[in-house]
Amino acid sequence: MTTTKSDAALLIDGTWEEAEATTEDRDPGTGEVVAELPRGSADDVDRAVSAARRAFGEWSALAASARAKYLIAAADALESDVEDWARLMCREMGKPLAESKIECARAAAILRFFAGEAHRPFGEHYESDNAGTWLFTRRQPTGVTGIITPWNFPAAIPAWKLAPALVFGNTVVAKFADDAAVTSLRVARALYDAGLPKGVLNVVTGPGSEVGAALVEHPEIDAISFTGSTDVGHGILQSASKSAKKVQLELGGHNPVIVRRDADVPAAVAAVALGAFASAGQKCTATRRIYVNRAVYDDFAGGLSERARDLVVGYGLDEGTEMGPLVNEAQLQGVLEALERAAKEGNMQGGRRLTDDGLDKGCYMSPAVLTDLPHDSEFASDEVFGPAVALWPVDGDDEALELANRTTYGLSAAIFTRDLNAAKSFVERIEAGIVHVNSQTAGAEVHVPFGGLAGSGYGPHEQGRAAREFYTEQKTVYLDPAPN
Ligand code: NAD
Repeated sequence: MTTTKSDAALLIDGTWEEAEATTEDRDPGTGEVVAELPRGSADDVDRAVSAARRAFGEWSALAASARAKYLIAAADALESDVEDWARLMCREMGKPLAESKIECARAAAILRFFAGEAHRPFGEHYESDNAGTWLFTRRQPTGVTGIITPWNFPAAIPAWKLAPALVFGNTVVAKFADDAAVTSLRVARALYDAGLPKGVLNVVTGPGSEVGAALVEHPEIDAISFTGSTDVGHGILQSASKSAKKVQLELGGHNPVIVRRDADVPAAVAAVALGAFASAGQKCTATRRIYVNRAVYDDFAGGLSERARDLVVGYGLDEGTEMGPLVNEAQLQGVLEALERAAKEGNMQGGRRLTDDGLDKGCYMSPAVLTDLPHDSEFASDEVFGPAVALWPVDGDDEALELANRTTYGLSAAIFTRDLNAAKSFVERIEAGIVHVNSQTAGAEVHVPFGGLAGSGYGPHEQGRAAREFYTEQKTVYLDPAPN
């Protein structure tokens, strides 16, 4: 796997450009430099937005099926390159190869799903109260869209924003997260190689506080779709509201699991370990809080501790690695410090930096399992974006639900039970945009809506048919033939 200069470049008005300054993009598993990432500027954003504005007229006037052809060609190219692309992802942000491959294949599937949107209904037809009137809704593109993505799903998240944006007729300026921008740029490269007209898709990489902020504040941007941390998202909402932009935010999570006394405990342990520690816990939908019925608490806690202890931590490209490094040194330090504070309030297994067996050059840590924390502790309230979970014993469903709903977040939640009534009640009462019964809190299929409630999201949900809401504007049309 190699990265060339053109893998790490700005894309403005159909041209790949170098920037005056670059940022070192390092492999968090080895410390090696993967690429020199162009550090774009507010001026680059301005040029990119102008290009997107110029391209909008012709692009939005095409048949949706003509736009979809670019997505299909890009999906074909990305699929044929999954192995190499996944290795790049693994090197750039640490996700183990097997997980990276799944994400890359999913990104291609997302492009295909949204290509299919070209042939699904754009509007609805109603019967009018007036005989002879045709009454229907039609959807038109939202306009020039700013897209800001995080590093933790660097293939899938760009795909699930770019694909609907383009197929519904929007033009785009994208700003991918520096920690995995080269992986994200492969999606843009595949669309460019498919022959996308110039200016339809532009990419400016660089610091969020500069490039991202310039995009959000730009008066010629009609809408901003952001995925990232809650604090940054709320700042973006404030800034974008000054120019009344349409805003979609997918934010952090603090995802609870309830394990009932009738649960299949070994199956629950396996699913929770996957939900908590896959991608080193760096998923918005990762499991953080677990409320276990006292009758099965010891069994469950023992099983999860054993699984966490046995997890093979190592370099993502090494055979047998189950958990890779965290994305960078600052992220690792932030997680370790939060866990140190948590450990003072309860008990912690793991949660330490790992440096033995050749791990000293990377950002590795052991998965943490916390117990005996107060319910109002910092860990129980704030997202810690790493491989860490806390467990509490509970006496029944009402207590478990009350605690599960206690945070300001509302992204994903799961219950483990064999009782259909308990599962139904959980689905109805839990405050979460994504609800699982007997499966891990993480994971998302491409053809259904994805999004958080409360502090985990804002605006229309993403993916599936829900994506139309953000990437189109709706008109209601009363059509009466003129009298002869
Ligand atoms: P982040 O908020 O630090 O950065 C996200 C993006 O915003 C990056 O591209 C960054 O450069 C940019 N940015 C930073 N400051 C900005 C500013 N002032 N103006 C405009 N853009 C700015 O998040 P991260 O560390 O990249 O990702 C991890 C976070 O993302 C976690 O909180 C996780 O839960 C969340 N996340 C949410 C979802 C979801 O769908 N709900 C999915 C993945 C990740």
